[in-house]
Amino acid sequence: MPLNPAPSGSLFMVVAPSGAGKSTLVNALLAQDDAIRLSISYTTRAPRPGEQDGREYHFASVEDFLQRREAGEFLESAEVHGNYYGTSRLWIQEQMKAGTDVLLEIDWQGAQQVRKQFPHAVGIFILPPSIAALEERLHKRGQDDHQVITRRILAAGGEIAHAAEFEYVIINREFAIALSELTSIVKATRCKFPQQAARNSSLFAQLGIHANLS
Ligand code: GDP
Ligand code: ADP
Ligand code: 5GP
Repeated sequence: MPLNPAPSGSLFMVVAPSGAGKSTLVNALLAQDDAIRLSISYTTRAPRPGEQDGREYHFASVEDFLQRREAGEFLESAEVHGNYYGTSRLWIQEQMKAGTDVLLEIDWQGAQQVRKQFPHAVGIFILPPSIAALEERLHKRGQDDHQVITRRILAAGGEIAHAAEFEYVIINREFAIALSELTSIVKATRCKFPQQAARNSSLFAQLGIHANLS
């Protein structure tokens, strides 16, 4: 059995084209599961109405972002829809050390970079039921102007082309079904042998179960 480098926590990466429902699904998961923590990314995008610095994102200027990137502060970073996004390396390292489950909402480029450093990361791709639905959701969300929405719709095909790189695919047609699928993936991952063995080491020892993790 391959050795899992993480003490027991799992790293989930949720990826989707803009408007597929990624943030809504992730927020619903977090609301019912307090054992998983969301990584707050750095971004150079302007805050949307209602977004707060440090809650949805750490909002940064391009200069500040590039300095942090240069200093090696990001586990991964990418340019998406004309803005920079990046994941804090230090925060992820702290969570992994503590054995906490962590969820990253990142794009496919970032997922490829994370995969190289955490081969056991669990990749989940969220698909919309159609491109028309994606467009409708972005308009209904009403937080981006027309130009931004057009740019994101045009990018969707290229992003969806990377779906096959992920372990799991969820089609977010009916929200409740999509959420239960996401919840199931998280629960199933926690039941994998290495995660169970790490979380329940004394029980495993009492029961005489020896993890042959070589
Ligand atoms: P959304 O697509 O409507 O959720 O819009 P956002 O502006 O929140 O995200 C834009 C893109 O950047 C999405 O593809 C995100 O998954 C991606 N993204 C967000 N945070 C990160 C990050 O820390 N790293 C990387 N690589 N991508 C990110
Ligand atoms: P993303 O984070 O992928 O860009 P959001 O989570 O912001 O997407 O969702 C985009 C919009 O679609 C939001 O207004 C959200 O309420 C809506 N939405 C999410 N899931 C569904 C669904 N299954 N059916 C209809 N609308 C949805
Ligand atoms: P939005 O601007 O709508 O919040 O996000 C647009 C895209 O950027 C989404 O696909 C989102 O997943 C991605 N994104 C957000 N944060 C990060 C990040 O830290 N790294 C990467 N690679 N992508 C991110």
